Amino acid sequence: EDYVAKTFEQIKRREDQVHAFITLREQEKVAKEVKDKAKRSGKLAGILIAIKDNISTTGIRTTCGSRMLENYIPPYNATVIEKLLKEGAVIIGKTNMDEFAMGSTTETSYFGLTRNPWNTERTPGGSSGGSAASISAGYVSLALGSDTGGSIRAPASFNGVYGLKPSYGTVSRFGLIAYANSLEQIGPLASNVERLSLLFSIIAGDDSRDSTTINYYAGEVKEIPIKGVRIGLLKNIMDSSEPEVSSITRKVVDKLASEGAIVEETNLGDVELALPAYYIIAMSEASSNLARFDGVRYGYSEHGDGNWKETFSKNRGEGFGLEVKRRIMLGSFILSAGYYDQYYVKALRARNLIKKNMDSLFSKYDILVSPTMPVLPPKIGEVIDDPIKMYAMDLNTVLANLSAIPAISLPAGFSNGLPVGMQIMGRYLSDTFLIGISSFIEKLT
Ligand code: GLN
Repeated sequence: EDYVAKTFEQIKRREDQVHAFITLREQEKVAKEVKDKAKRSGKLAGILIAIKDNISTTGIRTTCGSRMLENYIPPYNATVIEKLLKEGAVIIGKTNMDEFAMGSTTETSYFGLTRNPWNTERTPGGSSGGSAASISAGYVSLALGSDTGGSIRAPASFNGVYGLKPSYGTVSRFGLIAYANSLEQIGPLASNVERLSLLFSIIAGDDSRDSTTINYYAGEVKEIPIKGVRIGLLKNIMDSSEPEVSSITRKVVDKLASEGAIVEETNLGDVELALPAYYIIAMSEASSNLARFDGVRYGYSEHGDGNWKETFSKNRGEGFGLEVKRRIMLGSFILSAGYYDQYYVKALRARNLIKKNMDSLFSKYDILVSPTMPVLPPKIGEVIDDPIKMYAMDLNTVLANLSAIPAISLPAGFSNGLPVGMQIMGRYLSDTFLIGISSFIEKLT
C-alpha cells in the first residue's frame, strides 16, 4: 500500500509539469491489483510498470498519441503485456509519445508534450518520451517503449536511464500498433541494468502471432568483464556529434581501455546513406500501415455522410496531426508508380550496404560504441518546426534498426546538468552480451 501511495504522491508532485502519462489508471484499482499480485509468485509480482501508448492493453485506452485513436480501447493484450501480467506486473498507466511514434522529442503528441524531468525547458527525447520520463521523474523503475529508429534509446539517453532496442525478431510485435514493421521492436527501459535485463528476459521469445519472431532465450545475465573485449569507437559518428556529447563517450571508452578493453577508432562506411534510407523506408511503411485509419475500418469517425472520398478525407484530415500527414504523403509519393524504383528500391539497397558495412566491422570488433544522440536534449520548440533538423538527430540510432542488430543506450555522464547517453551496438542476437557489458560499465561510471 505504501509503495502505491508513494508512487502516486510522486506523480502528483511532478506530473503537472512533466506530463509523462496520457492515461494514468486510478490509484485504488492499481493498489488493489498490487496487493493481490504481490501475494502470488512471479518475477514482477506486484511491481508497477509504465507502458508506451502504442502497445495494446485490454480495457485500457491505447491512443498512439493521436486524435485518430483518442477513444480506442483494445479488446486484446499485446503479447508483451500478456507476458508481463503473467509475471505479476501491474500497469500503472500509458505513456505519452510522439503521434504514431513519429518524432524524436515527444512534441508531436495530440495530447500535448512531455517535459524532461531533469530540466523542464527541455524535451525528454522521443518517441517513447513518456516512458523514459516516468522513470527519471521517479514514478516507476520499469517501462516499455518501442524503437523504430531510436525511440527507446533517444529518451533513455536524454533521461539518464537504460534502454535496449532488441535484435529484430526477439520480441513479439503482436499488439504493437505498427509504424514501420521491418524496423521496429518493442523494448525495455529501466533505472538500472539488472531491471533492464529482467524486463527483457520476460518479454523476449517467439510468438505464433508474430511470424517474424525467433526463439531467443534471454535468461539471467551475468556481468561480463571488459578485459579483452574489442571495441570499435565509431569515429565518423563521434565527429558528427556535438563535442560535449562525444567527449563524454570518449571518457567512458578511455576508462574501458584502462580496464583492459582493446579500443580502436574506426569508421562506418556509407554512413551518409543511413538517414535517407531510414526515412524513405519508414515513411513508405507508415503510409501503408496508416491507410487503415479512415474512420470506417478504424479510428476517428466524425464524418460518415457524403461519398467515401469525402468521408475518408475528413476523418483522416482531422484525425492525424501534421507530422503524420507529412509522412503519409511522402510515403505514398515514394511508393507510387514511377518513383518506387527511384526511391524505395534504392533505399533498400542502401540499407543492405549499411548492413554489410556493419557486418564487416563486427568481424573485427565485438561492440561498436558512439554517443546515443548527437546532441543534448533540445529545448522545447527548438526542432519541432524543422523536420530536417529533427530527422538529423536520429543518425546514430537508425543504424541498428537498418541492420536488425541490438543496441543499448546507457547513462555515460552529464553536460550542463543534462544526462548524456552512450550507445553500444553488437552483432545480431548479442543482446545478452550487450547487457552483460553494460552491467560492467554501470559499476564504472
Ligand atoms: N525519430 C525517428 C522517427 O521519427 C524514430 C522514431 C521511432 O523510433 N519510433 O521515425
